[in-house]
Amino acid sequence: MKLVVMKFGGTSVQDAEAIGRTASIVQGRIQGDQRPVVVVSAMSKVTDQLLAAAKAAGCGDRGGALEISSRLRQRHLDTAGKLLSPARLRQFEPAVHEHFEALDEILRGLSAVGELTPRTNDMVVSYGERISSLLVTEAFLERGIPAVHVDARKCIITDNQYGKAIPNDALIEARCSEHLRPLADQGQIAVMGGFIGSTPEGVTTTLGRGGSDFTGALIGGALHAEAIEIWTDVNGIMTTDPRVCPDALRVKTISFEEAAELAYFGAKVLHPATILPAVEKNIPVLVLNSHNPGNEGTRITAMAPHCRSPFKSIAVKRRLTIVDLVASRMLMSHGYLHAIFEVFDRHKCAVDMVSTSEVSVSLTVDSNERLPEIAADLSKLADVKYEGQKALICMVGGNIRGQNGIAAQVFHAVRHVNVRMISQGASEINMSFMIDEEDADEAVRSLHAAFFTDPDPVATQALQLSADALYSRLDQ
Ligand code: ADP
Ligand code: ASP
Ligand code: MG
Repeated sequence: MKLVVMKFGGTSVQDAEAIGRTASIVQGRIQGDQRPVVVVSAMSKVTDQLLAAAKAAGCGDRGGALEISSRLRQRHLDTAGKLLSPARLRQFEPAVHEHFEALDEILRGLSAVGELTPRTNDMVVSYGERISSLLVTEAFLERGIPAVHVDARKCIITDNQYGKAIPNDALIEARCSEHLRPLADQGQIAVMGGFIGSTPEGVTTTLGRGGSDFTGALIGGALHAEAIEIWTDVNGIMTTDPRVCPDALRVKTISFEEAAELAYFGAKVLHPATILPAVEKNIPVLVLNSHNPGNEGTRITAMAPHCRSPFKSIAVKRRLTIVDLVASRMLMSHGYLHAIFEVFDRHKCAVDMVSTSEVSVSLTVDSNERLPEIAADLSKLADVKYEGQKALICMVGGNIRGQNGIAAQVFHAVRHVNVRMISQGASEINMSFMIDEEDADEAVRSLHAAFFTDPDPVATQALQLSADALYSRLDQ
């Protein structure tokens, strides 16, 4: 019997209809002699709303925070009402109330103190996955799936970097063997929330936005699964974000290396850290569409087949800031870059791209509330200027290597746009450049038209969506 980890994103559990579809997909797998372990996100937009509630409470807005929580409580109760029989609903409702009572208690406490710490923020947002996973378990049981709810915090053990905690692989493997393996062996379907974890002492943590994909991969790695499936609302990894470019095509197969690059540079379809646990154990990752389960999706494997197109996909990372440093007094001195990076390191601020000249260094970073402090520290080393609202366009493909004239084609396609920084990574599978954020959509569409109008059928396949489905997605 094949063990597969199936992770369903927020859109695959967003309402009763979506949860029903998810249940049918899982049921199909069980009948096909597979043993799924199911990881679910919070219902779509719930994490955003919980973050807003935490923020309101932290600013002392008790009423605002409790109102958000009350709307969320109602949404979960309404969805449960549509999915469950009256008897099961009666049994389940107290669990929903219990969770929201506990959440309200925390929000009241936060607004009384008027202070939100990363630790309490994680505690608040964890409720999204805690409740969605309970609801999905009940919906599965209602449909005859032998589901068992597992609190993800028992399995995903992390350090205490709240908001972006680092998983402890050895402990996760031990906990998965203890809590998940026996269920799979007995033919039961474990259902757990993604995104959340806990420290070894039991304090709730989260893995960063979009982190349910990461949970799926961690569980898949720990259980040596046959495959990790990421179920979402598009037909797989596409040649670019279909919301920006509706004629995006499905990428059939992509290498781990290419997918990791795309995810890191903003392709929201996959969390950047997802690939690593799978690569380490050579487990294939599939990206599939819960609205169109018959579609074969995208397969992410160690090596992708050769194709003639130079690029597989175009990603955009938005809300970036360029930091320019000029220091003629540093001319020819060594240790200068070290001193600069030490400042970013101290502020735990990741740098995406760097370009240097004799006296100047330009870097790009995620727009970050700590930039004024970082700039103040950097100003001890150089004259500092920073400018926000930038976007990084990243063209990814294993075939860039050794092809002549690619850069000329890329920059010809965006000749009407002001390009600020250019980089071709040492990995030779990515070509990136920085532009103003307001030009990003237009640049992506021009690049897509230039590189994907005559795609290699080995690599891509046209989006198969009805016009209605497409437009309803674009309206979201
Ligand atoms: P989920 O709720 O399933 O985690 P996300 O919203 O996190 O879904 O990710 C899916 C979305 O990612 C798609 O709806 C699409 O708009 C966006 N996206 C961005 N880049 C790409 C890409 N290259 N391929 C597919 N989807 C992409
Ligand atoms: N619910 C979390 C988020 O919205 C994690 C996830 O969906 O992957 O970021
Ligand atoms: Mg996601």
